Amino acid sequence: MKVSVDPVLCEANGVCVGILPDVFDLDDDEVLQVRPGELAEGEVESARKSVAACPRNALRLNG
Ligand code: SF4
Repeated sequence: MKVSVDPVLCEANGVCVGILPDVFDLDDDEVLQVRPGELAEGEVESARKSVAACPRNALRLNG
């Protein structure tokens, strides 16, 4: 399972960072960075919560 962000939709409000900071990070330019690669099993539920919580509907789970 992987999570990805649509950078056009993302407004960098940090909601997902607050839920899953090991995967999401706002860089020095306030651009959301997503840790590459597969989510750990223990991260999937929080990733789902992040997808649901994103006010811009900018996150997708794949796989
Ligand atoms: S919650 Fe959505 S809009 Fe906010 S930083 Fe994360 S992806 Fe971007």
